[in-house]
Amino acid sequence: MSARPLPEGFEPYVWASTAEEVAARRGLRVAEVIRFDANVPPLPGVPRVPLGESFARLNDYPEGTYRELREAAAAYAGVSPEQIVPGAGADGLIGLAARTFLGPGRRACVKRPTYPLYAIASGVEGAEVVDAPATADLVWVCNPNNPTGELVEPEEIAALARSLPDAAVVVDEAYLEYGGKSVVPLIAEAPNLVALRTLSKAFGLAALRIGYAVASPEIARELDRRRDPAPIAAPAARIGAAALREPRLDVEETVAERERIRAALSAAGFDCPPSHANFVLVRVDGAAEVADRLEAQGLVVRRFPDAIRITVRLPAENDRILAALGAAPEPAAVRSALVIRTTAETALRASLALDGSGRARIDTGIGFFDHLLQQLAFHGGLDLELIAGGDVDVDEHHTVEDVLAALGDALGQALDGREGVTRYGSATVPMDEARATAAVDLVRRPHAEVSLRFSGDRVGGLAPTLLPHALERFAMQAGLTLHVEASGEDDHHVAEAAFKALGRALREACSLNGAASGSTKGAL
Ligand code: PMP
Repeated sequence: MSARPLPEGFEPYVWASTAEEVAARRGLRVAEVIRFDANVPPLPGVPRVPLGESFARLNDYPEGTYRELREAAAAYAGVSPEQIVPGAGADGLIGLAARTFLGPGRRACVKRPTYPLYAIASGVEGAEVVDAPATADLVWVCNPNNPTGELVEPEEIAALARSLPDAAVVVDEAYLEYGGKSVVPLIAEAPNLVALRTLSKAFGLAALRIGYAVASPEIARELDRRRDPAPIAAPAARIGAAALREPRLDVEETVAERERIRAALSAAGFDCPPSHANFVLVRVDGAAEVADRLEAQGLVVRRFPDAIRITVRLPAENDRILAALGAAPEPAAVRSALVIRTTAETALRASLALDGSGRARIDTGIGFFDHLLQQLAFHGGLDLELIAGGDVDVDEHHTVEDVLAALGDALGQALDGREGVTRYGSATVPMDEARATAAVDLVRRPHAEVSLRFSGDRVGGLAPTLLPHALERFAMQAGLTLHVEASGEDDHHVAEAAFKALGRALREACSLNGAASGSTKGAL
């Protein structure tokens, strides 16, 4: 065996610890670990193609020209499809650019601190990594830059490209959507510019590994000739194309939160430079100690020798890390809450934002219950991350009850003073032969009347009395009046219609109508 040697001092890519590893190391439950280190949105993007259909042809290879994805990316980027090269995330395209422009005897320019993969991909190709562009065959630019968040004006990058006509200038625009500026419109005048884009960040689809390069038709052809035949799985390419055609990005709230975090940290005396991405860099003495102290509380940040990097998450989660750093934030623009609850039986975390877009990541360990909560979040317009690790092996009872109790707590907290809410909400939802009605009053007189008429002795594997019981807990913890009635032939439909109706009723009751209070007695 004789592998091609790597350059001296080569450091391979190292993944951060998983939430499970952090939990084990720190004596925490997984649900207590909140990751501020990965620069991805806290909630997944919602695929807008039927998943069943996407996975129905798993024996077929992807369509290797990725026509649909390239057309969608071209329209999104404002170029023609022959200027688009598909890749397995920006990472795949970094490797492809290195393979295309580098090799032994060639030089790659990397200006640090930046994303480590440029030096890694350059080293793998046998190129020398230098820090001045003048003699480079490939100049890597990360814009906005990870980890500083700094933005360089595209004109400045184009001028560099024009001054180095024999080099490729590859601009990683992974964080473009959070306030970057693209070099793509300048490719026509500086055809040695290549932009790399990804659906891992603002699109919330990192797991799918979808990226695309934008280049002049000539460079696109050179890249395409060297790329893997099918770098993106077919279902991922379909989901990615649909997302690019109809982008629903996680940007506005994230940018507002980023600025709120920076303001709080700056006011607390931290050096926190402006960022154009979904993270902030905080320069601190003793960064390792600070990161350790945060991690001991389950708050995981990315560490650098003289700084920590914090990914923007949901407002209530950001408040938690700001408090741990001794910073006092202004109230967030959106109503949100974070509830972490650990008991002898369960450990769970509910991160909730009202006024969301129905994005949810639910993992309770009980598939049917996850499905119901997903429906509740979607129809309630809630952004919700709900992670529970319970004693489901013994009995689902604790998990189901504790999850709905925590969700009730989170809702109560997110509503805060309940000022300006519509107060009442109701909805009737049919599902085939089943029909459910839910009515909600947000006045603080907790009361529940829940009647789910199930006919079987298990509903999705759960005892039929459990869901009504847990919904009652939800109402008590949220401090609201709740009536739910549902009946039908099929127990699955009955339960699902009930959770959908509850979501819709909650959405209406929690919506802001601008009035001071929905009560004749003043405050709710
Ligand atoms: N480029 C930069 C600058 C990044 O920070 C990251 C994510 N860590 C990536 C690329 C990776 O993107 P992808 O998921 O598309 O491979």
